Amino acid sequence: MLERLLILQERDRKIAKLNQETADIPARKETIQSRLEAHREALQKAQEGLKVKQLAIKETEGEIQACQEKIAKYRNQQFQVKSNDEYRTLEGEIEGVENQISDLEDREIGILDEVESEKKNVAEKEGELKEEERLVAEEVAALDTRVSNIEAELHDLNIDRENYSKDIEEEWLSRYERIMNHTRDFALVPVERDTCGGCHMKIPPHLVHDARKGLDLVLCSYCGRILYWQP
Ligand SMILES: [Zn+2]
Repeated sequence: MLERLLILQERDRKIAKLNQETADIPARKETIQSRLEAHREALQKAQEGLKVKQLAIKETEGEIQACQEKIAKYRNQQFQVKSNDEYRTLEGEIEGVENQISDLEDREIGILDEVESEKKNVAEKEGELKEEERLVAEEVAALDTRVSNIEAELHDLNIDRENYSKDIEEEWLSRYERIMNHTRDFALVPVERDTCGGCHMKIPPHLVHDARKGLDLVLCSYCGRILYWQP
């Protein structure tokens, strides 16, 4: 009878372990998926960096256009002025604005280089995110496979368990189950020299003797687990 109970305990421990593994899988999936967050943030930052530079280009182009309009206005005024002095003053103004345009164009070229490197950065971050998404999908799929394998294993274990339980005396079985539900680790523990293999308290000699005979259920007087003799 004890042998059957020991087999039952072994199956129950396996079942409990598999159930625990199943229960842990959603959290494991979340941990895996959370890795994408950092990559998404990095990509977003890169995209924002690119936007800033593109906006700077637009602004510079706007400034250049404003300068060109100013020049057009001065040229128009040149047609209307009467004196050479006024004409030259306008010419000076135009020259000043043309210098401004030249500076703005230099600045634009610099920003265009920055736009290129920001674009490269965005592409790099996109690539990294994509690669991480691939890895994450793979790992999540592996966990899904594991869940179905566990389900199949549990199905078999439960059938196996039922078969073993059938041949165990009702009193032993219900006691075993009560202890197992209570301790959640072992209902049956070996006698280790003269101590309980569960709680490690010293047990009286007559209990050691009874456990050794193995005829009846011998319970540890401290933790209530069933004691068995391991030759
Ligand atoms: Zn004990």
